[in-house]
Amino acid sequence: MTNHEKNSFEDPDQFDNAHDAANDITYEDPYAPVEKPDYPVELIVACREFDAKFKTNADCIEELVKILGKNFLYCRYCNSREVRRNFGSRTLICFACRRGSSVFTDTVYDSIKKPRAWLLANWLIGQGVEFNSNQFRIPARVAYSSALTIIKKLAFIIKSDLENEVEAIGSNMFISVFNKRSSQTPAQEHPCAEQFAMEKSEAYLEDVEEDRFLDDEPQRPKCLEELGEFENALYELLGEEKIHFDDLIRHFQCQVGELCVAIFELNMLDLIERHGGDYYTRKTKQAKPAVPESSNNPSIRDFLDFVRNIYHGISRKCLHLYLALFWSKNHRVRWNRSALAEACRKHPPIKGKDVLSFVTPLIVNLVGQNLY
Ligand SMILES: [Zn+2]
Repeated sequence: MTNHEKNSFEDPDQFDNAHDAANDITYEDPYAPVEKPDYPVELIVACREFDAKFKTNADCIEELVKILGKNFLYCRYCNSREVRRNFGSRTLICFACRRGSSVFTDTVYDSIKKPRAWLLANWLIGQGVEFNSNQFRIPARVAYSSALTIIKKLAFIIKSDLENEVEAIGSNMFISVFNKRSSQTPAQEHPCAEQFAMEKSEAYLEDVEEDRFLDDEPQRPKCLEELGEFENALYELLGEEKIHFDDLIRHFQCQVGELCVAIFELNMLDLIERHGGDYYTRKTKQAKPAVPESSNNPSIRDFLDFVRNIYHGISRKCLHLYLALFWSKNHRVRWNRSALAEACRKHPPIKGKDVLSFVTPLIVNLVGQNLY
């Protein structure tokens, strides 16, 4: 048994990632153990090919250096290109200043601990193999949290290109697969409430002004705060105890129609409940907010199926990363192995906190089917 298999929480470096990894555990049971993965044949075959080609850690480092290319063979202290490096070593020895520096400094592989896992992820994604972190951790021989971090970082790199090349779309179209919590999920709420919270934020209002396509959709109130004073007063009054419609009329001294509209609005937001005999109560919190059914866009449907089959749901926060993985998987002409290598080469280093703090914007990019 190797060290990493013992306990992912032993490594203090991994703790934050492991914490973030909690968003890959379903909302229904946040403490469920990570299930034993079932392996797609495609993944097994690709891993075997990988093992045959890269037998040692040194082979893997060598290949990563090759991915980065000759431009990165320089002394990180004095920039001299008069450097020497042994096979499979990260260290460049400088002939000019005689100091040693890492060939991975200032690259996407900066201070990586598991070169083999990194190369394997490059290899699999570069071939369009489908897998989740739980399936990846065993052939990669890393803890679940490291597996997740590596995949997210590569998705992050792909995402950078995604933004430039493909169709923009509202992230609310994907709400039906947001069933995993993230640091952005409001406390005590369903993971998809993250979408509404995000839309409420000021950034959203700016986006609405800028993004023409959002104007096509009628703007329904998305939360209690966006409803009128009367709706709010009604919501405040209602509690666990059932109140009759007529008593509400008497209490508010209002018109029947006025009350009906308010009830309709609160119902649309799933905030109140109607009981037999025309009694009303406030709905217990944590109830899943009403989910708009995703459109008939076939690209969206394909993506939703992809997420359900491979990842069993995602958090809203990471949506854009999964869209990037989906893109690279489907668009094989654009994202062959050398394209991924090229993207890694030109991308600046990614810190763990870059990935942790990444939040999917309200407008995301999705590959149209015609791009395959
Ligand atoms: Zn030097």
